[in-house]
Amino acid sequence: MIVTIDGPAGAGKTTVAKLLAARLGFRFLDTGAMYRAVALAGLRRGVDWENPGELAELAQAVEIRFDGDRVMLDGQDVTEAIRTNETTVAVRCVADHPQIRQRMVRLQREFAHGQSLVTEGRDQGTLAFPDAECKFFLTASPDERARRRVADLQARGQSIPLADILHQQQRRDEQDRQREVGRLAKAADAIEVVTDGMSQEDVAVRLKQIVIERARAVSNGEAAPISVPQS
Ligand code: C5P
Repeated sequence: MIVTIDGPAGAGKTTVAKLLAARLGFRFLDTGAMYRAVALAGLRRGVDWENPGELAELAQAVEIRFDGDRVMLDGQDVTEAIRTNETTVAVRCVADHPQIRQRMVRLQREFAHGQSLVTEGRDQGTLAFPDAECKFFLTASPDERARRRVADLQARGQSIPLADILHQQQRRDEQDRQREVGRLAKAADAIEVVTDGMSQEDVAVRLKQIVIERARAVSNGEAAPISVPQS
């Protein structure tokens, strides 16, 4: 069974998806980490972000793997390095690139092959897994999302003013919603959950109930089973 969780930055997708996957005994995939890892590789190699050919080469050259909770780039643990503000700003260049997106979606489907999975990102229910049995769209108000991001960065030792984060977030939302391929959108069959005022624990409990109901409907033949698209 595939469960997709899409939504804008700061809606709490990663923590909720992790909690949900652990409770369901499913694997968890953080697709934002994959785009972040490519962006970090680009920063380290000093690629010319304006050169689509160089970015296409980068997409083919990098090796991204998950080792439990850790994100591995070309064999090196980059779990913390991909969360810096510098990488967050650079990620747009790779996320906008159609060939990079194509490779990431192919890797995501390979990861899902033969497994039950909770996957989170922007295009998981729309593009990567359009036939997923259970799709969620998580949102929260811009203020709440920005406050969460400030707290998250502070926990990592980075102090950035709320106003700057709000500004960056607004730009990221626009970019995520406007890109040509894989734009942030709610799938027609996704369930929208607004997480303002809810703890991540509450959200995970709610989502788990829905997944269980959905799984029951599938096993009773009331809903279509999953088919993972071939890349
Ligand atoms: O979710 P997170 O903030 O870590 O994602 C980093 C960036 O990667 C996002 O700003 C978004 O532009 C991009 N992304 C994407 N498609 C995904 C996941 C993330 O374009 N499936």
